[in-house]
Amino acid sequence: MQKVRVRFAPSPTGPLHIGGVRTALYNYLFARKNGGTFILRIEDTDLARFVEGAEEYIMESLKWCGIKVDEGINEGGNYGPYRQSDRKELYRRYAEELVDKGAAYYAFDTPGELEERRTETEIEGSTFIYNALSREKLRNSLSLPEEEWKNRINDGEPYVIRYKMPAGENIHFDDLIRGHIVVNTDTLDDKVLFKSDGMPTYHLANIVDDHLMEISHVIRGEEWLPSLPLHVLLYRSFGWQAPLFAHLPLLLKPDGKGKLSKRDGDRMGFPVFPLYWPYGETAKGYREEGYLPEAFVNMLALLGWNPGTEKEIFSMEELIGEFSIERVHKSGSRFDPEKAKWFNHFYLQKQGNRQLALEFREILRARGFHHDIVELEVLVGLVKERISFLHEIWNETDFFFVAPVAYDETVIKKRWKAETPAQLTELKAVLEGIQDFTPAGIEQKVREWIEGRGYNTGAVMNAFRLVIVGASRGPHMFDIISWIGKEETIKRIDRGIEVIGAGAK
Ligand code: GLU
Repeated sequence: MQKVRVRFAPSPTGPLHIGGVRTALYNYLFARKNGGTFILRIEDTDLARFVEGAEEYIMESLKWCGIKVDEGINEGGNYGPYRQSDRKELYRRYAEELVDKGAAYYAFDTPGELEERRTETEIEGSTFIYNALSREKLRNSLSLPEEEWKNRINDGEPYVIRYKMPAGENIHFDDLIRGHIVVNTDTLDDKVLFKSDGMPTYHLANIVDDHLMEISHVIRGEEWLPSLPLHVLLYRSFGWQAPLFAHLPLLLKPDGKGKLSKRDGDRMGFPVFPLYWPYGETAKGYREEGYLPEAFVNMLALLGWNPGTEKEIFSMEELIGEFSIERVHKSGSRFDPEKAKWFNHFYLQKQGNRQLALEFREILRARGFHHDIVELEVLVGLVKERISFLHEIWNETDFFFVAPVAYDETVIKKRWKAETPAQLTELKAVLEGIQDFTPAGIEQKVREWIEGRGYNTGAVMNAFRLVIVGASRGPHMFDIISWIGKEETIKRIDRGIEVIGAGAK
């Protein structure tokens, strides 16, 4: 079998959509699974669409995901350069080779002339296509006398090189995901291969580079399927063996209606890019929203592929072991923001409390709180199960750091009885007498007191929670007060009785 060499070939035109990251991931998994090479090629021949910062963004995104590039701009390799603008000189020769072979031609039509043609054809009730039927009537090296078109070129008149699409031929080819496909060439046009600015178009550069870089499998998004007949023909015209093709299904909106876009993310509050995009129209990123790369990669891998079992949790190594193109779906995959959170919750639980505490300590520091790491580790352990993101820890633990300034009215109505202030005053005395202020130590004494007095545990504890937390939320009461300490607990009881007690009925 031919050595597996695959490439991810993004154009640096803005932030990389998560669909693009998935394409990179599948290429990477396929390469690793088959002992092959994963190449990153930057396709920047469209100067008008080039966006500063996009190339770095692509590389950083792959790095964050743990997708390791074998050959690329930074990594080097024997098939470089890996940025198409650095290979610029190469493409004209190939475009001219096709002209010499009679598979392409020079065209001199100006954008204005083509626009005129378009309007005329529209008035006649059809759509203008530059192809076998119209090319004879346009200005190109097929319709003009040889001397004339040669003079035009020598005189420096701008021209493009177009592919000479054969007329009325059925083109047969295979896609590893979609199976056998037949397209009639009459539905296709004479695509520009080489532009008047001296740059190749995507089609030419892509085919030339895939050939020169000895790419064995082209794994890319479904949006490139319409270009496949042209690509197959280009290989044929050059007399080169084409790689195998696999076109990945689209990532769909959560309701399944259409392609997932940035607008969907903005509207529904989830990112569609791996990292924050800081330029121009900024965009949210998974990394900055608190997703762990393992969760992001796991979620993405299952959007368009399944292992054929119920298994959902996969490390990168496991994905490499199980990935196969045969199990990539044909139909689009619906993106589910809740599932993304579910994955993050899962991977967050696997993080050590120490690790989370270290990160949470930074959040606290920014809020002006300084705590011992061992204490924070205990705290993290108390709320970890309730959170899917690190930044949620604060919302679950704010009352550990700040005493309540207000008390939930609904809870007061429900839980604050005439006898409550007296019971809490008794409880205060019990707590004051406890030496071992650990959750277990406190629990034992408090339970003895409640039982001894014949109080209702629920009633006492709910009112107790109200004065300590300000609402009916949070972990176990004995864990909370042990963490905040005896002194703070007593203070909060006193203040609760004072503030709520006054308003109690
Ligand atoms: N440069 C194309 C893109 O931006 C690459 C398509 C391909 O993989 O052939 O998606």
